[in-house]
Amino acid sequence: MDVDSLYQEIILDHYRNPRGVGLLPEPHGESHQVNPTCGDEVTVTVTADADGLLHVGYEGQGCSISQASASVMSELVEGRPIAEIHRVEAAFLDLMRSKGSGTPDEEVLQDAVAFAGVSKYPARIKCALLPWMALRDAEVKAGIPVEGGSYE
Ligand code: ZN
Repeated sequence: MDVDSLYQEIILDHYRNPRGVGLLPEPHGESHQVNPTCGDEVTVTVTADADGLLHVGYEGQGCSISQASASVMSELVEGRPIAEIHRVEAAFLDLMRSKGSGTPDEEVLQDAVAFAGVSKYPARIKCALLPWMALRDAEVKAGIPVEGGSYE
């Protein structure tokens, strides 16, 4: 199996069996993001616990890229220290800006490496970034300090 097929399999697996679906009951921050060009919607809820760990829950609908991205994101950030999550966010943003030429850091991005090919298609980058934009916005609303640039 070549890398592109493998990446497609990972995305389809997350789309068909999404991880971490469900909004948190008492979120510290919540964000609803829409990608009008594709019709994708994602709502992300976050809480930060006393140990500085982030908890995330989401709901969404739309194309396989957007929903798989939400599933991968939740798996990557759930229950992890907020400082580490900023590293993951920055790595994913870099990958999406790489125009297909990025060499993703598998250790940091895990299943999110599967979106490397998506970065070649500007219209699909918005789909892949949508849940991450919602995460960032929910973090801001929760009063969690964020790092790095805008997702626009
Ligand atoms: Zn989409």
